[in-house]
Amino acid sequence: MSSKYPVVLIAGDGIGPEVSDAVVEVLKAAGAPLEWISCDAGLAALGKGKDVMPEETLDAVKKHHVALKGPCTTPVGKGFTSVNVQLRKKLNLFAAIRPVRSLDGVPTRYEDVDLVIVRENTEGLYSGVENRITSNVVTTLKIATVEGTERIAKRAFEYVQKRGRKKLTVFHKANIMKMSDGLFLDSVAKLHKDFSDVPYDTQIIDAGCMKLVQDPTKFDVLLMENFYGDVVSDLAAGLVGGLGVVPGSNIGFEDAVFEAVHGSAPDIAGKGIANPLALLMSSVMMLNHMYEKYGDKQIHAAAESIKAAYNKALSDGEKTGDLGGSLGTQEFAKAVISRL
Ligand code: NAD
Repeated sequence: MSSKYPVVLIAGDGIGPEVSDAVVEVLKAAGAPLEWISCDAGLAALGKGKDVMPEETLDAVKKHHVALKGPCTTPVGKGFTSVNVQLRKKLNLFAAIRPVRSLDGVPTRYEDVDLVIVRENTEGLYSGVENRITSNVVTTLKIATVEGTERIAKRAFEYVQKRGRKKLTVFHKANIMKMSDGLFLDSVAKLHKDFSDVPYDTQIIDAGCMKLVQDPTKFDVLLMENFYGDVVSDLAAGLVGGLGVVPGSNIGFEDAVFEAVHGSAPDIAGKGIANPLALLMSSVMMLNHMYEKYGDKQIHAAAESIKAAYNKALSDGEKTGDLGGSLGTQEFAKAVISRL
């Protein structure tokens, strides 16, 4: 009999609570031995009179080391600093790992897409350092440090090596941002000395994006700084069926927060039609991470059965509206549960 492992649940806002509820139900039905510790962030926290990123939520993740997170809205142009950026920076979750794969039952114009995006999560243009210089001029600072670029380069090489992937491609714009992206490239070259068996190449990001949409199967693991990773993640999602099918993780040295690539989708929030699959796939990544950590076979079994069940559901044509189907959020969760 396994013990129950604590996991912090941050449902988020917008479609967050809907998709989180669905995922928790599937995990429960699959017998995942988890104990949920619910915490607030974003609009949900503000609505309860708390800070947008409550200290108690950060403390809970620091204590339990693993969290599953729904999306949190960040207003455009005004208001608070992004909850997501704060969480990643304050917990030092420096590596976003985002697998982007073709799924049976989700036809797109490409077959056999199997990419992993490794996004630096704490530096670059998302450092939040913006200044109004005059009434007509504003600046946004792009930050690259030796520590930040070396640790993400190391993490990316380790990922390729450990998972037996084919190669690493670094997207950059060092022809224009010679210092910041130049440092990023220098760190990759330096770290490669420790991973000389891992092939790697570099692509200027604009040409890289063109090649990615021409034939994504030519790429394997992609490494890039924060902003590029944000944009290319959504681009890559579009190659395999959209944001409803791309999971993700934010991993530091101690803590790991698992969340879908998509946002709070205010256009469909509250309608019960959001696809919970991306968060469900993120939860499978979380279970695999926990299995590596705890070695509990019940965790592994739950991960395997959920993965098999959602693949079966999709190939049986059980899909939400974003994938051309007619199921709602809860109906899709039930379709998965019935195949566990
Ligand atoms: P979004 O990802 O929320 O939505 C983009 C489009 O994809 C919308 O049409 C939406 O309906 C659709 N979509 C997204 N997820 C879906 C799902 N699970 N099922 C079906 N359709 C789905 O991006 P946006 O509209 O640019 O951002 C909305 C808010 O989310 C913003 O405030 C943004 O800052 C925030 N955001 C948060 C996170 C996060 O919490 N990690 C990530 C990205 C964006």
